Amino acid sequence: AIPLKLFGEDIPPRTEVYGEVYMKKSDFKKLNEERIKRGESLFANPRNAAAGSVRQLDPRITAQRYLDTFIYRATFPEGNKFNTHIEVLNYLKKIGFKVNPHIKLCQDIKEAINYCQKWIEKKEELDYEIDGMVIKVNSLKMREELGSTTRSPRWAIAYKYPAQQVTTKVQDIIVQVGRTGALTPVAKLDPVRISGSLVQRATLHNEDEIKRKDIRIGDIVLVQKAGEVIPEVIKVIKEKRTGKEKEFVIPAQCPVCGAKVFRPEGEVVSRCNSLTCPAQIKERIRHFASRNAMDIEGLGPAIIDQLVEKGLIKNISDLYFLKRDDLISLERMAEKSADNLLDAIEKSKKKSLANLVYGLGIRYVGVHTSEVITRYYPTLDKFKKASLEELIEINEIGPKIAESIALFFKEKENLSIIERLRSAVLNFSQEEEKMRKEKVAQILSGKQFVLTGTLKDFTRTLAKEIISELGGRVTGSVSKKTDYIVAGEDPGSKYQKAQKLGVPIINEEEFKKIINNK
Ligand SMILES: [Zn+2]
Repeated sequence: AIPLKLFGEDIPPRTEVYGEVYMKKSDFKKLNEERIKRGESLFANPRNAAAGSVRQLDPRITAQRYLDTFIYRATFPEGNKFNTHIEVLNYLKKIGFKVNPHIKLCQDIKEAINYCQKWIEKKEELDYEIDGMVIKVNSLKMREELGSTTRSPRWAIAYKYPAQQVTTKVQDIIVQVGRTGALTPVAKLDPVRISGSLVQRATLHNEDEIKRKDIRIGDIVLVQKAGEVIPEVIKVIKEKRTGKEKEFVIPAQCPVCGAKVFRPEGEVVSRCNSLTCPAQIKERIRHFASRNAMDIEGLGPAIIDQLVEKGLIKNISDLYFLKRDDLISLERMAEKSADNLLDAIEKSKKKSLANLVYGLGIRYVGVHTSEVITRYYPTLDKFKKASLEELIEINEIGPKIAESIALFFKEKENLSIIERLRSAVLNFSQEEEKMRKEKVAQILSGKQFVLTGTLKDFTRTLAKEIISELGGRVTGSVSKKTDYIVAGEDPGSKYQKAQKLGVPIINEEEFKKIINNK
C-alpha cells in the first residue's frame, strides 16, 4: 500500500506525503468471512474496519488487514519545483505512490460539478466506498493567494453525495436472537433498491428505539443506506398512516427456544438466558471452553461449528459425552487430534468451581464475580439455590448481576444441563477440589508400576489414572526399575519376568492398600 522504496532518478531528498487509508469492499467482505470462521466479531463497514486496523498496536496485524492508500498531497521542504496540483500527483505516481486514477483536471467549475454528479450513480461500480469528491484549485500559486480560513483552505471544497433515502412499507417486525442471546428487532420491508443494492430488512436496534421513533407494523417509513452500513429506518411517514398499523411488543419468550426473556433495569437489550438456546449454542461452547473457563485446548471454532451442525452437541454438557468415533467423523480431524481433544475435555473436569461458574456464561458473571461467588457459595448446589435478596447482600454483586443469576437458575432447561454436568463428574464444590489436591500428595511419587491380568474393581484406564494422579507411572514392560507389578486374574508373561527379576508382585487387595495409603 505504501512503497518501501521510491523509483526513478528524480527523488526528492525529503518529502512528506498525505493521503487516505482505505479498505476495498471485496477485501472487507473477505476479512469479515475470515472473522466469522475464527468466531470474532464483525466489522460494520470498510471504514470502521480500516480505522480499527490502522489503530492496531501490533503492526503485523495491521499488515494482514488488506489496507490500501491513495496519496493526494505532498510537501517538499527542499524546494518545490511544481506549478500545479496535477503535476505533483503525476510525479507522486511516477516515483511509486498510489494516486487515485479517477482524478480529473477540469477547465472550469461547471465541468467539475458535472464530473462530481456523474459519479453519484457510477460510484457503486468502485471497489471502495466514497461519500463525495473534493474539488481543488490546480494552480499552486493561486492557492497561495487564496490562503486559508482558520478552519480550512479556501482552495478546496468537498462535494458530498446525499445518503440515499427511500420510502417503503414495514411488512412486519421480527425478532432475531444473536449469538450472545440479544434479541434484536428487525423490520421486514417491501423490497426497495437503495444505492445499488436490494434492501428487504432494516435493523431497529432495540425496543426503546422503536418506541422513540414510534415505528409500527404497516407503517410507511423512510429508509437510508449509506455504503455497506446496515440499512436503517430514519423515520415514519405519519401522514400515510391508515389506522391499521400495529404496535410492536418485544416477546416475553425467546423466539428461537421459548425460554423466558430477561431485560435488566437500565438496559435496552432483552436477552435469552437459556443454555439450550440453538441461536447461542456455538458461542456458549466457545465461552465454556475458553481459557478462563474450562480451558479445553483444541476445541476451536471450526470444530465447534462441525459438532453443532452435525447435531453431536446441543449444549455444553454434551461435550462430556462425546465419543471418539464422533470426533473422528469430523472433517480434518486426525485420530491423534481426536485423542488429544478427548484428553483435554477429560482434564477440564478438574477445573475449579469458579472456572465452572464462569463457564456457565451467566450474563454479567465474569471471571472476578465467579471467584467472589465461590467464596460465598462453596458448592454449585448452594449457589444454585441462592435467593435474589441474598445475592444482592453480597458487596460485589449488584442488583443487575443478582437478577441475572436468579433468572438463570429459574430456567428449567438450565437446571437439567447442570444435572448432566454433575453426572459427568465436574467439580461442583470447592471441598472436592481441596480433597483432590490433598490426595495428590504424590504418595506414589517416582514409583513405577506394571499391570498384568484382569483386576476386579478397576479397569486398566482407571488403575493407570489413579497411579498417575498419585505421582506414579505405569509402564508396559517389566524391568529392574519396576517397583511393583500388580497382578490380577490370569496374569501374562510379565508375571514370570517379574519373578525372574525379583520385582515385588502385589495382588489387587495389596494394590488397594497402597493407593489408600494404608
Ligand atoms: Zn433462546
